[in-house]
Amino acid sequence: MTSDGEQRLEDGTLKWHTRTWYGVPVDVTVAENNFHRVKAGVVVLPHPGVVNWLARTGLPLRLRLELTARHELGHLQTLPVPLLHLVLLLWPRRGKPYGSRWQRLALGLLAHQAVWEVAAEGYLVATDARAVRPLRRRYALFWSLMGGLAALSTYLLLARQEK
Ligand SMILES: [Zn+2]
Repeated sequence: MTSDGEQRLEDGTLKWHTRTWYGVPVDVTVAENNFHRVKAGVVVLPHPGVVNWLARTGLPLRLRLELTARHELGHLQTLPVPLLHLVLLLWPRRGKPYGSRWQRLALGLLAHQAVWEVAAEGYLVATDARAVRPLRRRYALFWSLMGGLAALSTYLLLARQEK
C-alpha cells in the first residue's frame, strides 16, 4: 500500500520520508518525548501522541518510534475513512436528534477523532505485525476503548428521538 521511502534515526528522533498511496509526499517526524509531526505536501498536521503513548509505552525505543511513525502515516493512508464517517454524521436525517447543538458538536469531534485513531491503528496492524505482539493486553484495551468510543458516539449522534 505504500512505498517505504527512507527512515533516519538521530538523537531519539525518527524521520521518515515517504508517499501516500494517492501520491502525496509525506514527512513523518516522531520523537522519544512523544512529540510528533506529520507533513503532507504543504499541510502540517499536529498530532497528540496519546494513542501512541497508550499503545506503545514500554517498547524498545527503535521499535516504538517505527510503529509510531507508521501509525502517523496511517492517518494519511486511511484518510477516506474519517471523511466517509464525517459525511455519515452530517448527512441530513429525519427526526429530532438528542442533546444540544454544542453537545452534538463535542460528541462529533470525539467520534471523529476516535474513528480516525482506529483507522490509523488498523492500518498499522495491517502493515506491520510487530504492532500487536509485544503488548497484547494493553493493545486489547486500546481497541476496546477506542473502538467502543467510536461506535458509541457515532450511534448517539445518529440516533433520533421518538415522536
Ligand atoms: Zn493517531
